[in-house]
Amino acid sequence: MNESSCFTEQTKLLHHSNKIDPTTGAVNVPLQLSSTFHQNNLENFGEYDYSRSGNPTRKVLEDQIALLENGFRGFAFSSGMAAISSTFLLFSQWDHIIISEDVYGGTYRVVTEVLNRLGIYHSFVDMTNIEEVKKAIRPNTKAFYIETPSNPLLKIIDIQTISQVAKEINALTIVDNTFLTPLLQKPLDLGADIVLHSATKFLSGHSDLLAGLAVVKDQVLAERLYFLQNSFGAVLGVQDCWLLLRGLKTLYVRLQQSTASAGTLASYLNNHPFITKVYYPGLPSHQGYSLQKSQANGSGAVLSFELYNEELIKTFIEHLKIPVFAVSLGAVESILSYPVKMSHASMDEQTRRKRGISNKLLRLSVGIENVEDLINDFEYAINKCMVYS
Ligand SMILES: *Cc1c(COP(=O)(O)O)cnc(C)c1O
Repeated sequence: MNESSCFTEQTKLLHHSNKIDPTTGAVNVPLQLSSTFHQNNLENFGEYDYSRSGNPTRKVLEDQIALLENGFRGFAFSSGMAAISSTFLLFSQWDHIIISEDVYGGTYRVVTEVLNRLGIYHSFVDMTNIEEVKKAIRPNTKAFYIETPSNPLLKIIDIQTISQVAKEINALTIVDNTFLTPLLQKPLDLGADIVLHSATKFLSGHSDLLAGLAVVKDQVLAERLYFLQNSFGAVLGVQDCWLLLRGLKTLYVRLQQSTASAGTLASYLNNHPFITKVYYPGLPSHQGYSLQKSQANGSGAVLSFELYNEELIKTFIEHLKIPVFAVSLGAVESILSYPVKMSHASMDEQTRRKRGISNKLLRLSVGIENVEDLINDFEYAINKCMVYS
């Protein structure tokens, strides 16, 4: 669909068919701040008529994500949740969706508190276990919805196997690819039908906007999702489309740095007696290590770990100077979060414990700081904890 499809990813981020504005030669996409478009004649309307239905700046972004995901068409939404919710509107009353267990909190909320009200059924399943997945299938199962690696325990789900199971019953496979981005994992190539992103995270990369993206593999799905995007209207504003396009240009270098540092930090923490568990799919001891290697190009920049002692969480966090302590991930600055009080606060303690999300667990999204500085920072905070314990 794009003349630059022969380039490697690293180059495609910069050199695509929209890289130069044809009317002025500008090397950045123009911000097309117009809600409506003049039509030259009554018989034939132009490509654009109204910006909810289509906007030239948004189109460039949508083409770019479709190119990166090897998809048929891309769609930009006002947030990751807008992309996810609009996609769920592909389903109707009585339909049943099988969803991976550690799904993003906002997705959990829309499935359990909105879709169920509309009569759309769901089952949460540990989708690392294919037998469990097959057992959960019902005559009305219409989709499999997965996040891999999962949040916050970084469990790995086999996209190819799930897609095969889905095809056998004519159901769709939908993958939230936020944690890895198309540079590290291409769900459509592995058989999935729809890829979703919170572009708020790695794709934009600077903690400065909210955005969601969706990519579909064929024309039929493209028409269905376009209809929903235009009908529901949760489109991404033009200025955020532009900022996101700028962020995308540096995705390769940001991700390369962050992923390398995440690997180094994971090994460091894994060898430290104060840290009792490290969850990172790039560690050979991780349950999903070989599957991750076979279906992705890297392990990403997010890891989770457990401290030796729950009482020391506060001391540890207070003595770290580099990471911001916040929700979210995928930014140039490292972000540390405490799932029990942040992303998974709405989950009851019993369910959390059953899923292995303990009160000692912290999640780190590694930024692009110098990795020695990061390790020294962790070392300092751990030493402070050892003094107090
Ligand atoms: C943040 C996130 C979302 C939601 O995206 P928003 O842009 O915050 O609406 C969905 N899925 C995953 C995996 C996320 O990390």
